[in-house]
Amino acid sequence: MKTNFNKLHEYLFFIFVFFLIIFFIRSATYNFPHFSSSAEDDSSASSTANQEGELREDSSNPSSSSDDTSEAPKILIDAGHQKEPDYSRENAAPGLNSKVYKVSTGAQGVSTGVWEYELNLAVALKLESALKDLGYQVALTRDRHDIHITNKERGEMAKEVGADILISLHADGSSIASAQGVSVLSPAANVSFIDEARADTSKTLSTFIVDELAKSTGARNRGVHFRNNLSILNWSEVPTSLVEMGFMSNVEEDEKMQTEAYQEKLAQGMAKGIHKYFNSIADSEE
Ligand SMILES: [Zn+2]
Repeated sequence: MKTNFNKLHEYLFFIFVFFLIIFFIRSATYNFPHFSSSAEDDSSASSTANQEGELREDSSNPSSSSDDTSEAPKILIDAGHQKEPDYSRENAAPGLNSKVYKVSTGAQGVSTGVWEYELNLAVALKLESALKDLGYQVALTRDRHDIHITNKERGEMAKEVGADILISLHADGSSIASAQGVSVLSPAANVSFIDEARADTSKTLSTFIVDELAKSTGARNRGVHFRNNLSILNWSEVPTSLVEMGFMSNVEEDEKMQTEAYQEKLAQGMAKGIHKYFNSIADSEE
């Protein structure tokens, strides 16, 4: 009996050490401070304070930005929206008092009934592997639906994770059922809160993406549109493109966008556009 008792102790000790190791590995490799807890969802007072104050301080932390130029460019992919909307408001842009909704669930497929936040994440994961295949570093703003990140936070996250560009995935909705095609929304150049150089590089990026997207999918090319009222575009400090991958209000496009094959075409088209953008930068620096 005594031997068994000692063995039991030995066994429990090994389990304890095992979990200790797992715990340390997890805390050492966790990159995204704002993902770590869903407690943010319910703690209204402290989470507001975080959104307004702490994030700005984080984004100026030099340790989070990459200064090693030999590394492959890093792309932050945002799967637009999330399962639970938050219709409280946040500042639409730095230094601006106008407020916008923090985050919504987005459009819904007129035929499939699938929500936009679901489609966006499905394509985001395909884009992630397409970009990794091309040798890029990739980070995601979210990898699940049950999460709380506002559009402002998604924009700010680009700097926090040391991303070179931010790509936000969305799908359109319209009261005109026949409306279809791909478009890219890009930061406007004529407003005080958007840096002109960033508007310019974003335009180059957005143009490459929409052109390659139309080529790979055969969808109608609706072009690049310049916006100053989207908080993710306004709060990002890196070149940013918000991609509208198709219309969920159009039966044909809604159904197509729910197929693996079409999602793969969307991912490949965007990856190619992003690749052309980085090649064009490399060329102009030579
Ligand atoms: Zn959307």
